[in-house]
Amino acid sequence: MQFESLNIIEPILKSLQEEGYTTPTPIQAESIPIILQGTDLLGCAQTGTGKTAAFAIPILQLLSANKIFAKKRKIRSLIVTPTRELAIQIGESFNAYGRHTDLTNTVIYGGVNQNPQTALLNRGVDILIATPGRLLDLMNQGYLTLRDVEIFVLDEADRMLDMGFIHDVKRLLEVLPKKKQSLFFSATMPPEIVKLAGSILHNPKEVSVTPVSSTVDIIKQYIYFVDKGNKNALLVELLKNEFIKTALVFTRTKHGADHVVKMLLKHNINAEAIHGNKAQNARQRALTNFKAQITRVLVATDIAARGIDVDDLEYVINFEMSNIAETYVHRIGRTGRAGAKGTAISFCDAEEKAYLKDIEKLISKRIQVIHDHPFPLIDHNPVKTPKVQFVRRNAGHREPKPVAANGGRRWSGR
Ligand code: AMP
Repeated sequence: MQFESLNIIEPILKSLQEEGYTTPTPIQAESIPIILQGTDLLGCAQTGTGKTAAFAIPILQLLSANKIFAKKRKIRSLIVTPTRELAIQIGESFNAYGRHTDLTNTVIYGGVNQNPQTALLNRGVDILIATPGRLLDLMNQGYLTLRDVEIFVLDEADRMLDMGFIHDVKRLLEVLPKKKQSLFFSATMPPEIVKLAGSILHNPKEVSVTPVSSTVDIIKQYIYFVDKGNKNALLVELLKNEFIKTALVFTRTKHGADHVVKMLLKHNINAEAIHGNKAQNARQRALTNFKAQITRVLVATDIAARGIDVDDLEYVINFEMSNIAETYVHRIGRTGRAGAKGTAISFCDAEEKAYLKDIEKLISKRIQVIHDHPFPLIDHNPVKTPKVQFVRRNAGHREPKPVAANGGRRWSGR
């Protein structure tokens, strides 16, 4: 299927071509016609599936079709998303897909001076992308009104709840017009999310792409069992591989992220951290440097990394395993975006083995273990899996590949 068959208007088609998009992703193919009909939508999809374009394209089209001629532009579409990084990226998507329309958008988020944001709001804007706290704050200060919103998007609803935004969302729902089109996206659908969706949506059509486990199927995943004390050395060792142009490294804590950065800098590996203790502009700078490949390694905590969208990010390294299995899926979903290739490497120490079990249960598969590395875990219960070593496949690409080190004998797993 091509975008043309979704009845998308010429100015948007043109920008999609410029973006290099030819084929809609499954969530786009399903959602765009529903949204264009004016129907509410319940979308079960995570970042990396192309969900931003799935709502941005039809919103731009609907707003273009019903032009409002007022002196000052009114906020006709509101997109609420949990993190600043996501908000910025959604804004960039609207800029890209809407560049040949005359619609404008603005992004507002907390942690930075509000004056540039209020200046933009004062000029008037068609589409507002916001994090909940700053949105309510500026609304309460009288810098914006939501009474003209025609299309409302609640993005990453599950994460919104995880981050404690439920009251903000409820307050928001009180001030939004009753008559509007609502689009609700969440990667997971636990009961409280279903309840929240039920309170927002009217006769929604449901679209579900890729249950949490299958998006990760295209990503090559490897486990290195390693003692906690050897993780630094293993990371440095892996980064000696020049095929790893950039890598996003996950730690559990902010402190841990800073620690890894310091250690890498000592080894002359260009690294920066991105986490909640950093000022917003420092985080943005780190992200820009990483995208430009000036910084080779970006070390992030989970919340900070939520929604980081780096095209062509090939490597995600879990320096520490997450104790929440879904987080593993979110983390590795930063790579392999929209069908691109990706590799996720996880360091697992003895204490983290229980987390690994949960992860494998969630993704319904065993993650391949790399045994052949200089810092194997000293374990009293050695793991019996096929041996894996780095082999040269062709001149340009090196990747871990299993070798039959057990002489072809059957193996019984861990
Ligand atoms: P998202 O899930 O919205 O964060 O999108 C994930 C990535 O896929 C982003 O880098 C988009 O630019 C890219 N993308 C979205 N839709 C398409 C498409 N139809 N073709 C190619 N890339 C796409």
